[in-house]
Amino acid sequence: MWERKYHLALERMERDERDFRLVEDALRKLATRLATLARGQGEDVDRWLDRVGEQLGGTVAPERVDVLLDQLSAIVAALDTRRDVAGDGVDTETVAALREDIARLQGLLADLGAPLRDMLRLVADADAGSDDGRVLDASVSAEVRAIGEQLAAATDLAELRAQVSERLTMIDRHFGEHREREEARMSAYRDRARRMRDRVEELEVQATSLQDSLRREHALALTDPLTGLPNRLAWERRMADVEGDIRAGGRACIAAFDIDHFKTINDTFGHAAGDAVLRIVGGTLAREVGEAAFVARYGGEEFVVAFPGLSTDAALARAQALCVIVEGLAFHASGRPVKVTMSGGIACFGFATESGGSVFDRADRALYAAKREGRNRCVVL
Ligand code: GH3
Ligand code: MG
Ligand code: MG
Repeated sequence: MWERKYHLALERMERDERDFRLVEDALRKLATRLATLARGQGEDVDRWLDRVGEQLGGTVAPERVDVLLDQLSAIVAALDTRRDVAGDGVDTETVAALREDIARLQGLLADLGAPLRDMLRLVADADAGSDDGRVLDASVSAEVRAIGEQLAAATDLAELRAQVSERLTMIDRHFGEHREREEARMSAYRDRARRMRDRVEELEVQATSLQDSLRREHALALTDPLTGLPNRLAWERRMADVEGDIRAGGRACIAAFDIDHFKTINDTFGHAAGDAVLRIVGGTLAREVGEAAFVARYGGEEFVVAFPGLSTDAALARAQALCVIVEGLAFHASGRPVKVTMSGGIACFGFATESGGSVFDRADRALYAAKREGRNRCVVL
């Protein structure tokens, strides 16, 4: 918003600058004509011409135009005097034409007051709500009004020129002061923008670290601390995905495993030995099924495995193989061998809308059937 107004003001200033350059151009042409006519008419005239030429050599500042017009007038006056005295100078018509040109330029210069005022209004608009813009507008409007009054009341051109020049100087000063205040405001604005950017960067860093810790907490919430395996919550989530696959026409089976006589292991070798058994059995299951299946610690000494894409027979075969592997693990506690076996219940999704919970219940019933049938075996339901 602020920037758009600032750009508008800049565009307007550029347009005024072009207008002014037109005046400058006319002035240059006038000076060249004068030089062609008057060069060699006298030392004083040549000196004036040199000075005017020097000043028109580069770009002319607005406040210098007034001075240049004075100088051109002086040259014309000098030529006039010379003609009166010597009678052989430049002819009256030429001098009159030059006078006219100068007066026209003076008029153009006075006209610059209008675009100047417009521009100031624009700057003041851009500063809507800014006291500074209103102050500048008021002070410059007063100056421009004074110029208008003086133009109306003037009888003597030289005096008028001096007064206008003085007013232009005042306007220039007002502009200078406004520019300084504007620069201070811009610098404060930039400071504020920089501080805001820093703060945003800070917040981004904070948000990233917050996100990281949330991610860590989330991962922790889904992990069993003893075995490092996914926990029951993670299992429930995975079941939702599996249900989606089943609805899409896929197939999957679930195996529920429970360590046999685990209480006896705890009672005989201690809780720490029981924990070690849980860690080793869990790690073995995860390693054996790899990426092809999903293993979780469901609770206590119970583990669950989801076998996506497997038929009932294939799942049963995989579950039995796992039981054999666990049985083959050589545990030792307090220097004595510890026999560890597990039983498994297997159930598969039977229809597209069957829930994971319903399949799990069947797997659990199958598990208890395996227990009843003597343990260290797998049953399908
Ligand atoms: P079954 O063959 O019928 O499954 O007999 P079980 O002894 O394995 O079954 P039961 O449910 O009677 O005992 C399970 C035990 O597992 C009871 C509980 O104290 C123990 N347990 C549960 N969680 C943990 C654990 O995190 N660490 C240890 N060391 N023991 C646990
Ligand atoms: Mg058990
Ligand atoms: Mg149990």
